[in-house]
Amino acid sequence: MATIFTKIVNGEIPSYKIAEDDKFYAFLDINPLAKGHTLVIPKKEVDYIFDLDEQTYIGLQAFARKIAIALKKTIPCKKVGVAVLGLEVPHAHIHLIPMQSEQDINFANPKKKFSPAEFEEIVKLVKSEL
Ligand code: 5GP
Repeated sequence: MATIFTKIVNGEIPSYKIAEDDKFYAFLDINPLAKGHTLVIPKKEVDYIFDLDEQTYIGLQAFARKIAIALKKTIPCKKVGVAVLGLEVPHAHIHLIPMQSEQDINFANPKKKFSPAEFEEIVKLVKSEL
C-alpha cells in the first residue's frame, strides 16, 4: 500500500508544495514545530533513510540543502535545523526546521497552528528564493 507521502507526491492528498523535481519533493509539515517546517522526501518509497541507495541519499541531501537555503533567506530564524526521525511515516524524509533556539526542534513541543492562507503565504515566500 502506498504511503501517505506517496499519495502526496501523486496529488491524491493535498500538500503545501515547496519544490519538486523528477526524484524529490518538498512540502510543508502539516503539524509544524516552527513556521516553515518542511519535509523533504525521495519520490522513491523507502522507509528508512539509510536504506536509500547512495545516489538517492546524496541527491536527497542536495535537494534539502537548496530548500534550507531558501528557508533561511525567507523565514526569520537563526539557522535551519535538520532532523530525521521517521517514527510516524514509513517513507524516508528530512525535517527542515527554522530555529530561533534549540527549543524549536523539540518534537515533544505542541505543534504550531497556521491557517490555509498562512501556509500558502509561507509557500510563496520560500518559493520566491528557489
Ligand atoms: P516522523 O515520521 O518523522 O516521526 O514524523 C512524520 C511527520 O510527518 C510529522 O512531523 C507529521 O506532522 C508529518 N505528517 C504526517 N502526515 C502528514 C500529512 O498528511 N501531510 C503533511 N504535510 N505532513 C504530514
